[in-house]
Amino acid sequence: MEVQQVVHMNGGVGDISYANNSSLQRTAIAKVRPIIEEAISSLYCVSFPKKITIADLGCSSGPNTFLVLSNIIDAVVMKCHQLNHPLPEFQMFLNDLPGNDFNTIFRYLLPSFYEKLNEKKGADLAQCFVAGVAGSFYGRLFPSKSLHFVHSSYSLHWLSQVPQGLQNEMGITLNKGNIYLAKTSPSSVFKAYLAEFQRDFSFFLKLRSEELIGGGRMVLTLHGRRSSYPYNRDCCWEPLAQALHDMVLQGVIEQEKVDSFNLPYYTPSIHELEAIIETEGSFSLDRLEIIDINWDGSEDAYEETSAFNNLASAQNVSKCIRAVSESMLASHFGEATIDDLFQKYEQNVVQFQSNGKRKYINLVICMTRKG
Ligand code: SAH
Repeated sequence: MEVQQVVHMNGGVGDISYANNSSLQRTAIAKVRPIIEEAISSLYCVSFPKKITIADLGCSSGPNTFLVLSNIIDAVVMKCHQLNHPLPEFQMFLNDLPGNDFNTIFRYLLPSFYEKLNEKKGADLAQCFVAGVAGSFYGRLFPSKSLHFVHSSYSLHWLSQVPQGLQNEMGITLNKGNIYLAKTSPSSVFKAYLAEFQRDFSFFLKLRSEELIGGGRMVLTLHGRRSSYPYNRDCCWEPLAQALHDMVLQGVIEQEKVDSFNLPYYTPSIHELEAIIETEGSFSLDRLEIIDINWDGSEDAYEETSAFNNLASAQNVSKCIRAVSESMLASHFGEATIDDLFQKYEQNVVQFQSNGKRKYINLVICMTRKG
């Protein structure tokens, strides 16, 4: 599977769009705001750029794209006011894969972002320039030493490719019946996934270290795991694998189709992330946090979930996962399977959450470019 061709969130602003089904990711962005403020604050302790250059990697298309930009601008403005320092010019780059819906960003969302910015901050902030950069963050995107701050949210758990080595020498698939790491995945499959993540994340760090100035900061949020045990009980892909299995039993799709599908996705543990950062060596790790968020993006505490509306929650989860994975699933299983697949997924999520809401574990890391 050529990941760059098939990974993209559902575009536009309709019912199944990412723009309308990304409240989970929005909750994460809101929770990471104080960490961004801290990173910007520490950046301003070492340099006072007249022009600050910022990149958001894996920006997608929708309100979250601009929420990130606003949060970063707010953090800079707050710090400059504290220091009684003039505001810099902002150069902000929005990066995603070429299949991302950049048209919605630039045609419909950016004009109102500029308008709101001017209303909120006045002529002071007229100097904010937003540009798009289409390409993979597993390749160079910017000139050397041109960035002060890099941000990425909910993107780095996507691998550059489906791991190699998921078949044995006879061409027989090793992850039979699964679409990601599952309880029944053999250890060779776990190893192959970890090896791909190590390779990708290490390369990502190397590339960004070339693009950031010395002392530049990076704040990254990605899905992860709490324990070092590689199987994650709270994995949102498991109800999807079950739904595909049901469709095999109904004769709608072939078993072989399921067996040959593996997601280019990985949820690292804290220890795995730390080890890669240390071995790669270009960044010092300033902060690493774990943030739990309910699958449906709501903020209910676990204790309150007995009364929660399970069906409404499952519908929300299903629409979010559909917005994120439809392009990949449709290219492998065919467009015609998608409605049915996500109806089944929704029912399975109801079962999964019958004892309370499931949670995503999010790892947030803040790093400084050495040198
Ligand atoms: N940051 C946004 C969007 C997250 S969705 C938010 O928090 O709401 C993940 C995004 O990462 C998708 O738009 C996907 O296209 C993008 N992505 C995945 N792999 C990528 C890669 N290799 N290079 C650039 N973008 C990538």
